Amino acid sequence: MKTQHLTGCLAAAMLLAGNLMPAKAQSSFDAQFNDYPTYNGTDLELSVSPAATSFRLWSPKAQAVRLNIYADGHTGKPEQTIEMTADKANGTWTASLPGQLYGKFYTFQVKHDGRWLDETPGVWAKAVGVNGERAAIIDFAGTDPTGWNADRGPKVENFSDVIIYEMHHRDMSMHPSSGIANKGKFLALTESGTTSPEGLATGIDHLKELGVTHVHILPSYDYNSVDELNLQDNTYNWGYDPLNYNAPEGSYSTNPSDPSTRVREMKQMVKALHDAGIGVIMDVVYNHTAENDGSNFELTAPGYYHRHWDDGRYSDASGCGNETASDRQQMRDYIVNSVKYWADEYHIDGFRFDLMAIHDIDTMNEVAAELKTVRPDIFVYGEGWTAGDSPLAVERRALKENVSKMTDIAVFSDDLRDAVKGHYTDASDRGFATGKPGLEETVKIGIVAATAHPQVDFSKGNNSKFAYAESPEMIVNYVSCHDDLTLTDKLKRSMAGEPEANQLAAAKLAQTIVMTSQGTPFIFAGEEVWRDKKGVHNSYKSPDSINAIDWSNKARYNDQFEYYKGLIALRKAHPAFRMTSAQDIAKHLVFDKIDSVKNPNLISYSLRDNANGDSWKEIKVVFNGASIPRTVDIKKGNWLIVAKDGRISPDGALGATTGGKLTVAPYSALILARP
Ligand code: CA
Repeated sequence: MKTQHLTGCLAAAMLLAGNLMPAKAQSSFDAQFNDYPTYNGTDLELSVSPAATSFRLWSPKAQAVRLNIYADGHTGKPEQTIEMTADKANGTWTASLPGQLYGKFYTFQVKHDGRWLDETPGVWAKAVGVNGERAAIIDFAGTDPTGWNADRGPKVENFSDVIIYEMHHRDMSMHPSSGIANKGKFLALTESGTTSPEGLATGIDHLKELGVTHVHILPSYDYNSVDELNLQDNTYNWGYDPLNYNAPEGSYSTNPSDPSTRVREMKQMVKALHDAGIGVIMDVVYNHTAENDGSNFELTAPGYYHRHWDDGRYSDASGCGNETASDRQQMRDYIVNSVKYWADEYHIDGFRFDLMAIHDIDTMNEVAAELKTVRPDIFVYGEGWTAGDSPLAVERRALKENVSKMTDIAVFSDDLRDAVKGHYTDASDRGFATGKPGLEETVKIGIVAATAHPQVDFSKGNNSKFAYAESPEMIVNYVSCHDDLTLTDKLKRSMAGEPEANQLAAAKLAQTIVMTSQGTPFIFAGEEVWRDKKGVHNSYKSPDSINAIDWSNKARYNDQFEYYKGLIALRKAHPAFRMTSAQDIAKHLVFDKIDSVKNPNLISYSLRDNANGDSWKEIKVVFNGASIPRTVDIKKGNWLIVAKDGRISPDGALGATTGGKLTVAPYSALILARP
């Protein structure tokens, strides 16, 4: 069965409604797994030494386990079938064959309750044949690009310095206007010098020009939905249907039938981005599997890796048919070891956890702590919600509201997202930036990165009622992502009837709020060129004609691109927007008193006293989300104009003012600086 990825955003609304499970340790069904022995060795499933190729499958309740060796990844009968030997103390089954069996493929088959289950590549396949059916034995040393040993991502001092660009491989390169040869492939981002028909940079050169620090790539592990044997069909999927968690997706490689190719090409992509000074964050989906009984977890250790209700039914906090059980030791170790593997073998710089609240707090803390042993500046963040109810007690879930119980983990702030552009559940709903009154306090919660602030009344917040973040480094701010309508489509729908110029102005205002807010900013690929998805909100399997970015938009909406570029440059040049403690924000970020009943859709604040070591003594930030111009009273002084009326100059070269009454255009930001 191909499962459908439901938007993770459903859960925020559900949690707000107070629709929560009472605290409970686990279901009575799941109690049976507590006494399983566990095994955390690095030799799980496959290890190759000069003398032998060895196998070790963890399956404590198996009655027997077979190992099948194949010459091919897809066709033919096994060359050998070996009965594996039980190692009762740790629940594993072992077999060893002489020599290095590079080039061969293998599967396991488990006998459970008197029945032989289907063959499986196991759960630790690091290389696979086409469609991930069989695990592959390859020499990883041969997959490293030239210079790989010296390859490093950009050093990250503070997570608030990171600027995230969320992208799907096909979205970036499939459109004919991308000028990219390896369309839809990992290699697309290794091509420099590519341009749109109008001669503007695309691909990796575009990313460099825009100035983002990290790309966040949608699922790039081996997923289930795209048939790798029929790539000419050009099937599109976001990839939230995990199959093999530790091998790259085949359809993004130039040859899914050769197990080394996908590994090598993904590393080439990482290396090219690193060479361009850009970090790589991977979207990981350990919270559920594409299939239930047919998943590799079920075929190796039935029942163990998933959660269930008392009656034994799969629980479904993912909205995709099942949920995994991070609260069980072997699953927790699995998640931790898997991200460490990607960080080590592929030099991945960060991980975005899908529906992170399906995982327990202890697991997420262990993930962050263990990743620090690989590299201290690996960034971990996730969706602090679930998409359905779970047997896991609410207080144990890695929820947004529990982020202060986690160390070095950030969560997406839905506060700013829904308040700035309007709620995601209603396409026509407007937000602060498009003239809807009453959302000022929720926007302020986003501006201070959900940290305690003397001037922010959390009781008036729409999505959160308390200051849940102890530090701005716990918050990722955004107004749109792959889920739901793109910002462009949202503005086209909610501002229907208004001229496009107003919609473009509102997009600039929305992203100005994101880029100037405390916390880590995040933008969705293509919004800098007014990218839409033709109004499709859940485009997880829509064709390229919906999803691919039309790069001719970069010339068509060049003013938009230049503004986004300016915003990013402004944030990078000024640490005042990137404070690292709640105390600093409370001290240096001061809101101007505005009666939001008389003057709705108007927020004004100062970043004072060279905040966070900024070269500017004071920065004044004013947002006017109303459809009419607004007049604000700026204190007398020598101000540089940084942003005004939809234009931006990171150096403050738009002119100067001595303050007094200034007009802020509809749907626009005014930013002034006192050096
Ligand atoms: Ca696949």
